[in-house]
Amino acid sequence: MEQIRIQLTENPKQKPNMDTMPFGKIYTDHMFVMNYTEGVGWHDARIVPYGPFTLDPATMVFHYAQEIFEGLKAYRTDDGHIQLFRPIDNFNRMNDSAERMCMAKVDPEFCVEALKKLVEIDADWVPTAKDTSLYVRPFMFADEVGVGVHASKTYIFCMILSPSGSYYSEGINPVKIMIEDQDVRAVRGGTGFTKCGGNYAGSLRAADRAAEKGFSQVLWLDGVEMKYVEEVGAMNIMFKIDGKVCTPSCHGTVLPGITRRSILQIAREWGYDVEERLISADELVEAAENGKLEEIWGTGTAAVISPVGEIAYKGKSYVINGGKIGELTQKLYDELTGIQWGRIPDTRGWIVKVK
Ligand SMILES: *Cc1c(COP(=O)(O)O)cnc(C)c1O
Repeated sequence: MEQIRIQLTENPKQKPNMDTMPFGKIYTDHMFVMNYTEGVGWHDARIVPYGPFTLDPATMVFHYAQEIFEGLKAYRTDDGHIQLFRPIDNFNRMNDSAERMCMAKVDPEFCVEALKKLVEIDADWVPTAKDTSLYVRPFMFADEVGVGVHASKTYIFCMILSPSGSYYSEGINPVKIMIEDQDVRAVRGGTGFTKCGGNYAGSLRAADRAAEKGFSQVLWLDGVEMKYVEEVGAMNIMFKIDGKVCTPSCHGTVLPGITRRSILQIAREWGYDVEERLISADELVEAAENGKLEEIWGTGTAAVISPVGEIAYKGKSYVINGGKIGELTQKLYDELTGIQWGRIPDTRGWIVKVK
């Protein structure tokens, strides 16, 4: 394994009140960077003071968007330790994204070690208040200079850290979502299953229009028939229908969330029938009208679980569980956050200790 060169900052930043940080606004003192060159591989792995990149205007990422990212968190336990949740899964998924976008693959084990080192160096930035965390953003982009269209021969991989306050500082309030029936996010054969920046660029218009109507997220439909639900903004979606846990299957257009995978495993272990399958918007409407759509929640690293209290489709609104968080949603939230923050023992090998 390659050595990581470490250059510590001579000007540590003044730390703000990290326990009440808004998401993604403040970054720590250091970042991890390494470079890839075709024929050479990854080189110059380094932890250096946090700071800007200087890039030529013709750098390929600005023009053809070869850019992928990941998102995970470091958690402070009650006894002061710091831990990561399934970090290897993030770097494996980054390689799935890289493969689709013709980008360089990373060594997942090396990346976990590099991340542990980085978090250890910036350990004082991991907040301590309940439900706070240090958000980790690994990303990679094409940095070859030239506007000819082809896969870049060089890449930069970087990891930055951002302390974030409790996602639910005002308590877990269910959100209102809207089934989007104009724009689509992904199509079969496209890049829907990857965490590439371009997926987000294309999704902003629908999110803005939904926000104007008072919805906090859109629920995407499939890009071919616009009939089957896929996922919400940056979260996978799950339904409790007539006692069963149902979620759209990951067949190329849905991002395979690590929170999704974890929640499905826990639900199965608890004895629930779990179905990964096609779920049409019409089926949801029918279940809602028959009183069988018992709970809806989104899953993703940022919120862990986000209960949905209302869902709208074609101008009609359906209130779920009286607009309150469902019993199973709450139980799953307590279980997974319990494991992540170390309040519940990790029996599945999901936790990686930093220090
Ligand atoms: C990151 C992401 C998710 C959630 O994935 P997690 O691994 O659970 O954080 C879901 N959908 C999209 C589009 C995403 O980008």
